[in-house]
Amino acid sequence: MIDTRARAAVRDLPTYKPGRPIEDVKREFKLTSVIKLASNENALGPSPKAVAALRRATGLLHRYPDSTCRALRLALAKRLKVDPASLVFGNGSDELIVMALRAFVDPGDEVVVATPTFLIYELQARACGAKVITVPLKDYRYDLVAMRQALTPSTKLVFIANPDNPTGTYVTKTELEAFLRNLPRQVLVMVDEAYYEFVTAKNYPQTMPWVGQRPLIVTRTFSKAYGLAGLRVGYGLAAPAIVSALDAVREPFNVNSLAQTAAVAALGDVAFLKRSQQLVRDGMRYLTQALGRLRIRFVPSTTNFVLLELGPRAQEVAHALLRRGVIVREMSAWQLPGCVRVTLGTMPENRRFIAALQRSLT
Ligand SMILES: *Cc1c(COP(=O)(O)O)cnc(C)c1O
Repeated sequence: MIDTRARAAVRDLPTYKPGRPIEDVKREFKLTSVIKLASNENALGPSPKAVAALRRATGLLHRYPDSTCRALRLALAKRLKVDPASLVFGNGSDELIVMALRAFVDPGDEVVVATPTFLIYELQARACGAKVITVPLKDYRYDLVAMRQALTPSTKLVFIANPDNPTGTYVTKTELEAFLRNLPRQVLVMVDEAYYEFVTAKNYPQTMPWVGQRPLIVTRTFSKAYGLAGLRVGYGLAAPAIVSALDAVREPFNVNSLAQTAAVAALGDVAFLKRSQQLVRDGMRYLTQALGRLRIRFVPSTTNFVLLELGPRAQEVAHALLRRGVIVREMSAWQLPGCVRVTLGTMPENRRFIAALQRSLT
């Protein structure tokens, strides 16, 4: 129940249901070993260099964090070969979504999103009082032609998850280029590249050279490939004037000091990033082959997770997996009934998932 004094837009919001915590599931099913393959987290844990840097940083916890994320900004600008003024940081890239809405969207303005896709876009847009226009996916992929047709003189912001969550599919360079060509002047496009580091497809668009020339905000995160989901740090890339608008609505100390320290260290831990990418490549090969053998349909993914089409038994199978200590995400709340999303784990975790799935199906 939401207090009746809350704004109407807020009272009508559905609540976001995150993946179930391991401890919860252990308690409920009296299990000693539970694996979580439900939130697209990094199976390797955090970067060891980030952990070491965190230990050294605790002595400064009485100080406010650097409001400008200077060290992280300079390190990232150097790595990406971009102007430091084109970067903006958030308490997770989730916060950049909120900042873009607050900076660019008035109540009643239109925001265009795909459906289904990452739920935060629609939830936060509705919380701002925006009118949300939803455009269905086509064969589990963003339909950028239809999304382009959905733009009106009232459209302010468009969200494109690339790759997409929960499907794992991506839009191609050609598709995105066509979408961005001759956009109406008042439209801004947020391209959410949370899984950027995992993509290997050749026709995946490299958006970095477009930032500055197009009405774009590109967001990425330290939560996935860098293994820092618990610390909450993500970043946006945009023309400096767009960054200034986001900064205007940003809370001054939005990225905490430990998150900044860890992100700098993780960025320097190239070996960890490579291991994360390799684990995902190997895991994807193993999982898709095993699913093929089990005759389970899935959506080809370019991320660290896979969407399985289990049909009418999906909820039952997800529950059976839970009883066997494997947490996955059942997708009916995301308008994908019959589907289950599973995050790649370590190789032993992947094998345990397949074994549990096999038993849960019979
Ligand atoms: C995981 C994810 C994010 C990252 O969120 P953070 O707030 O940076 O942890 C952003 N977008 C999508 C589509 C995601 O799946």
